[in-house]
Amino acid sequence: MSDFLTGYRSRELVEKSLGQIRKLITRPWAIMEICGGQTHAFMQYGLNELLPEEIELIHGPGCPVCVTSLELVDKAVAIASDPNVIFTSYGDMLRVPGSNKDLFTVRASGGDVRVVVSPMEALKIARENPDRQVVFFAIGFETTAPSNAMSVLKAKEQNVSNYSILVSHVCVPPAMHAILGSPDNRVQGFLAAGHVCAVMGYKDYEPIAHKYGVPMSVTGFEPLDLTLGIYETIKMLEAGRTEIVNAYSRVVTREGNLAAQKIIFDTMEPCDRQWRGIGVIPMSGWKLRSEYSDFDAETRFNVGDIQTKESEICISGLILKGLKKPFDCPAFGSLCTPQNPLGATMVSSEGACAAYYRYGKK
Ligand code: SF4
Repeated sequence: MSDFLTGYRSRELVEKSLGQIRKLITRPWAIMEICGGQTHAFMQYGLNELLPEEIELIHGPGCPVCVTSLELVDKAVAIASDPNVIFTSYGDMLRVPGSNKDLFTVRASGGDVRVVVSPMEALKIARENPDRQVVFFAIGFETTAPSNAMSVLKAKEQNVSNYSILVSHVCVPPAMHAILGSPDNRVQGFLAAGHVCAVMGYKDYEPIAHKYGVPMSVTGFEPLDLTLGIYETIKMLEAGRTEIVNAYSRVVTREGNLAAQKIIFDTMEPCDRQWRGIGVIPMSGWKLRSEYSDFDAETRFNVGDIQTKESEICISGLILKGLKKPFDCPAFGSLCTPQNPLGATMVSSEGACAAYYRYGKK
């Protein structure tokens, strides 16, 4: 562990921070950590059990693998099954169940499905294989959008005409609106995801916080970051203040990374997006602008008439909305495990079901 991170993982400092939270809290509060990475960190470090029992953590839908729509997973499977295609993706997506099969099954049946660490690696594969179509599964929140957008800009600049991306970008603010505007909402405060805010800043969250009267702390991913985010949120809730506190100021500014935002907005525009288990959230995604439609795999391949079929057992939609916990699912740990997942929330390294399976005590 680097010296830099040692302080943020210091047991002594985390215990002190937990003590401050215990002194402050006077009543129950429900706080949503929007990001699946934070869900995993809470459970990995056992912080969910160390927080005062008045605090209920509600796990949010901030896991890009989990919310990628079944329709797009099925489209990925259809495109990857084309013998002229090299289909590239982050590893997590390969095991996400489609209606009938996943990308691993396509690979086992002879499909050329490759795990890459970035879209630029996929673009390199496209340059090296000019006779094949190379498709990258461009999933993610605002965090991955700049690199996906950059790969398209570079493909156009370098005339790499055999490269395209299957876009499944989702954005946090519309999801917050959907959660807070729902009649069954229980969220009283938010931990906003530090890495998303590193790109986009947090100015777009200010009107949301004020509209719904819900305070937010921009929060990082180390144990001390998480307890600090909780502390700041509880402090605002107890005082009746609706503000946004930046508890991750070593990385995040209010305006975010303007250069990264320019790359996104030069290449993509907002669109309605289907979230797996949740439904369509208006203007909650990004798609390629018409100038870049040649690089859109959905238009390049004929995959328009996909019929989808969700698992009848899986309740991941309710989990992603914060209405149920993974332990509430009758299939958890029996019919559904990371080796044999029924839903995306058991697959992803950021999925709530996978976090409970790996770190939960039940
Ligand atoms: S445990 Fe499996 S079946 Fe149950 S909600 Fe989670 S992913 Fe779906």
